[in-house]
Amino acid sequence: MLYKKNRQKVLSGQEAFKLYDTYGFPLDMTELILGEKGFTVDKDGFENELKKQRIQARTSSQMTGQVFDTGPLSKIKDISKGTEFLGYKEGACEAKVIALIQGDQLVDTASAGSDLTVVLDRTPFYGESGGQIGDTGVLESNGSQVRIADTKKNNDFILHMGKVTKGDIRKGSVVHAKIDLQRRNSIRRNHSATHILHYVLRKVIGQHAEQSGSLVTPDRLRFDFHHFSALTKEEIIRIEDMVNEIILENVPVAVKELSIQEARNAGAIALFGEKYGELVRMASIGDFSKELCGGTHVNYSGEIGLLRIIGESSVAAGIRRIEAMTGMAALNRDREKEGLLQEVCGVLNTPEEKLVLKVHDLLSELKNLHKEVHKVKQKEISGKVDSFVENAKEVSGVKIIARKVEDATADDLRKTADMLMKSAKEAAIILGTAQDGRVTIIAALSPKLVKCGLHAGNISKEVAKVVGGGGGGRPEMAQAGGQWAEKLDEALNFAAELLSKKILAGASSPAV
Ligand SMILES: [Zn+2]
Repeated sequence: MLYKKNRQKVLSGQEAFKLYDTYGFPLDMTELILGEKGFTVDKDGFENELKKQRIQARTSSQMTGQVFDTGPLSKIKDISKGTEFLGYKEGACEAKVIALIQGDQLVDTASAGSDLTVVLDRTPFYGESGGQIGDTGVLESNGSQVRIADTKKNNDFILHMGKVTKGDIRKGSVVHAKIDLQRRNSIRRNHSATHILHYVLRKVIGQHAEQSGSLVTPDRLRFDFHHFSALTKEEIIRIEDMVNEIILENVPVAVKELSIQEARNAGAIALFGEKYGELVRMASIGDFSKELCGGTHVNYSGEIGLLRIIGESSVAAGIRRIEAMTGMAALNRDREKEGLLQEVCGVLNTPEEKLVLKVHDLLSELKNLHKEVHKVKQKEISGKVDSFVENAKEVSGVKIIARKVEDATADDLRKTADMLMKSAKEAAIILGTAQDGRVTIIAALSPKLVKCGLHAGNISKEVAKVVGGGGGGRPEMAQAGGQWAEKLDEALNFAAELLSKKILAGASSPAV
C-alpha cells in the first residue's frame, strides 16, 4: 500500500516484495518507476520480507533433508560421504558400487530386467541441477550391464536411475561408468549458450533482464528472464547476431573454483535466492560472461557452432521465455524448415523467389471466385423470385408463397423472402430448405397482415412442429428449424393451407 511517511509518498516493503516475488519486478525497477512519480520504496521493509522468505526456504530444504535422514540413503550416509563427480573432465571412469536401491529398499544384488537406482563412489554422470538435465549412459562390469536413463542429485549423492539389461549387478563390485558423450556434448553446447544468451540479453534490452529460470537439455535450451514486454523482431535478430558473433570469436570458456568474495570482486553473476558454499565455481566465457555455475561447459565458444532462437513467449507477468537450439540440432531444424518451403513450392509448382507473389495471386483468384459464386447465386434467387410470385396462389388479394429452396443457407432464405416481399407487395411467405438433415424455415408477412393480427413467429412455430422442431420471432419475420428433412414438403403444404385459412378468416380471431 502507498502511504505518506513524513509527508513523503512511500511504497511499503511488503508490496515491493510482492511485486518482486509474484510479478518478477526487480526492486530497482520498482524504485525507478515510482521515483518518476515522486514515490520512494521502503527498502528495509523489502529486505525484511526477503529474509523471511529465505528462512522459509531453508526450513523446507531441511524437510527434504529429513526424507534423506529416514529413507534408504540414510543408511548409506554412514558408509560414504557422497559421490565424487568427475564429469567436468571425464566421460568415463571405473567406480565402486556403494549401494543399490529398489523402490525404497537397499538390495545387495539386482538381476536383468529390474529397475533400480545405483549409487557409486565416483562418477562421470551429472545429476540434474541448476537447470541442466541429468546424464544418461551405461554401467558395465564383467558380463553385466545397467542402462542409466536419468541421473539426479540428492545432497552429496549422485543417483543413477536405470534398468539392468544384462547379467547381475552387485553391491561392492567395480563398474565401468560411461556417459552418452554425444548427448552430453549437446547439453554442454546448450549450457554455455545459455550463459552467452544471458549476457547478450542484458546488453541488448537492459541489465534488468536477469535470469529467472533455465532448462538445458540436449535438444534445446529454455531461458526465462525479467522483462515487461515481448521482444521485437529486431531485438531477437540483434540478440541472435550478438550470440553468434561471440560463438564465432571462439573465445575460451574457463571454469575455476574460488571464494564467493573473489567471484563477486570479479563481477560474476550469482543467481538470486540460490545458496552458494564458501567455494564456488565460476564459468567465464572470454571477457564476456562471468557466472557462478555448477554445470558442464564447452572449452571454446566455437564448439557451440550456431545458435538459433526458435521461440519467445510470456511465462508470467514480467517474465519472458526464450527457446533456442544450437549445433547440429539448429542445423537440422533449419533444414526441416527449408524442406517445408520446398514442399510448398512443389505443391504450388512455383520457384521459391516467386512463392509470395504466387500466394497473393491465388488469394485474389479465390476472392474473385467468391464474388462470381455470389453473383450466380443472386441471379438464381431472383429467377426463383419471379417464378414463385408468378405461380403464387392468391387469397383475398394476398399472394401465398410456401416453397422449398434447394442448397440455401438461412441467410439466402431471408434475402429471398425480402425480394419476394418487394415484388409481391401483399404476401404471406414461408420458405424452407433442408441441409445436412436439418430443416430451416423462414416466415414473412406483409405489414397489412401483421396489422390484421397475423404473427410470423407463431406461424413458423406451428409449421416447424411438422418437421419435429420449433422456433419463433417477430410478427413480420421469423425463423424456425427442425430435424425431419423428409417432412419438409408436408410442412410447406401445411403452411400454405394454414396461411389461406388465416387470411380467409380475415384474421378476426386473436393472433395465431
Ligand atoms: Zn550455468
